[in-house]
Amino acid sequence: MPSKVYFLPWNRCNELYNYLKASRIFGHIKARNFIAIKVHFGEENNKGHIDPKYVLPVVEIIREKTAYPFLTDASTIYVGKRADAYHHQIIAHKHGFTIDVCGCPIIIADGLRGDVQVQVEVNLKHFKTVAIAQEICSADGFIFMSHFKGHELTGFGGALKNIGMGCGSKAGKYAMHHSCKPTLDQKHCIGCDNCVKHCYQKALTLIEKKVVMDKKKCVGCGQCIVNCAFKVFGLKWNEDSVGVQEKIVEYAAGVLKDKKGSYVNFLNHISKYCDCFSVPKNNPLMEDVGIVAGADPVAVDQASYDLINKAYGKNFFKEIYPQINPIVQLQYAQDLGLGSREYTLVNY
Ligand code: SF4
Ligand code: SF4
Repeated sequence: MPSKVYFLPWNRCNELYNYLKASRIFGHIKARNFIAIKVHFGEENNKGHIDPKYVLPVVEIIREKTAYPFLTDASTIYVGKRADAYHHQIIAHKHGFTIDVCGCPIIIADGLRGDVQVQVEVNLKHFKTVAIAQEICSADGFIFMSHFKGHELTGFGGALKNIGMGCGSKAGKYAMHHSCKPTLDQKHCIGCDNCVKHCYQKALTLIEKKVVMDKKKCVGCGQCIVNCAFKVFGLKWNEDSVGVQEKIVEYAAGVLKDKKGSYVNFLNHISKYCDCFSVPKNNPLMEDVGIVAGADPVAVDQASYDLINKAYGKNFFKEIYPQINPIVQLQYAQDLGLGSREYTLVNY
């Protein structure tokens, strides 16, 4: 059965509160529930994250139900500005996610060092259990506010990625990523050192002006792929992308096991790379489209994908990542019962 998905065009994004109220997608929230608003606070220098001013309307709706909203995210596996709760909160504040702007506190979900987690049983193809950040499991319900954009491993990143990858603890993220270590084609390397500077794991060095990788140190974060202009790094696209997409969806199944959420996707600043990259050049490649919301994460992501392609006039994601089939995540999520790829679009 098709799920209802609600659309607000970007030129009316200041109507977010009324649009979300009219959608009635927050019906799962009860009085005194702790509601996790899962966002991505943005890596340093990255401008793609959701503007914090859009959090307040969501917080207001949750508070009207006398529930307790908090903003959250979990630590990264690479050593950037979001690798532990201390630095994560500092970058969140720097990007404007303060209690004054958003109206609620930040609680980083997997503890000071990213190791506070719960093993959730899923018994699926890749994982029997998934390592989810503790406070995600402690929350009574969720609002996933996701920036929808291109993604170097999965073709696009939206609600499913924010749920699955975003709510994994460090160990969980490593389990999803670890098979995707980049391949190296040294003959194109000019020894410029850029990838070495951006590999926070110190897995890369230059020997006689050619890059060398220590695979034991590599965590598959992809920073080197984005930061090399000479196509030295690659992936085994089919194998790696399909596997990662399925693993993310299995983590999403663990997060949503016995819990309900609402999903709000922001189709603006639609860039090639995700918000984890500390690259100011991660510019939008097309016009802003709007906001898509619903109670079904699969339908919300499918509608976001379709609306972007429609606005672009052809398949945007195929153009930026011809080697990746991002439909894998949608189809696998539908197969696991997380939602429906069929939807009815309701224009606000
Ligand atoms: S960024 Fe590319 S060209 Fe520069 S050192 Fe690294 S691999 Fe070589
Ligand atoms: S080698 Fe590349 S993928 Fe591996 S940790 Fe370093 S930057 Fe990340």
